[in-house]
Amino acid sequence: MEKEKIEQLIKSLKKNRIEGIYFSSETDLINFVIDNLKPGITVGIGDSLTIEQLGLFDYLRQSSIRFLDKYQPDITKEERSQLYRDNFSADIFLSGINAITLEGKIFNLDGNGSRVAPIIYGPKRVFLVCGTNKIVQNDEEAISRIKNIAAPIDAKRLNKKTPCTKTGICLDCKSVDKICNYYTIIQGQFDKERIKVLLINGKYGF
Ligand code: SF4
Repeated sequence: MEKEKIEQLIKSLKKNRIEGIYFSSETDLINFVIDNLKPGITVGIGDSLTIEQLGLFDYLRQSSIRFLDKYQPDITKEERSQLYRDNFSADIFLSGINAITLEGKIFNLDGNGSRVAPIIYGPKRVFLVCGTNKIVQNDEEAISRIKNIAAPIDAKRLNKKTPCTKTGICLDCKSVDKICNYYTIIQGQFDKERIKVLLINGKYGF
């Protein structure tokens, strides 16, 4: 992606009191996160293929933090639900996003709300990791990206029985398996230090 567009996005985010930080390499982004993992702090995560691709889960598991790891083997449904609630009091919450507009608005879609809720409220700080493939022009393109790219792929990944897993595009279903239950748009925040967007050049997640 062109440098001008990334600069435009960072300026737009700043107007919304959100810091956007561009990393030219995965190593720089990973080091930024690691530098913030002070011993003893609690760190939660929302589902994110981007974070997985960057190998950040391994760093979180190896560091001397309390990691609210919902992917640990043999975790029960009740234990996972408790971790979701614990995320609200985390020192840092890490997540991906579904789209971000050049106007500085962050779009997310969620099935049960466990990812979008702590992004909005609870954790002291939130790092949203985003590949430049998720940068779009405006709200309309953001919704289109979610409906016609992100949600169908995610529904398929989660083995949901929804029409989009066959068509590859959203058919506005009313299925019990529907993952498109909560759309959120972040377009500002009171505490300008809380949410930061960590941008990385390239295709990450979907
Ligand atoms: S509303 Fe239904 S069909 Fe549309 S993307 Fe979501 S799950 Fe798929």
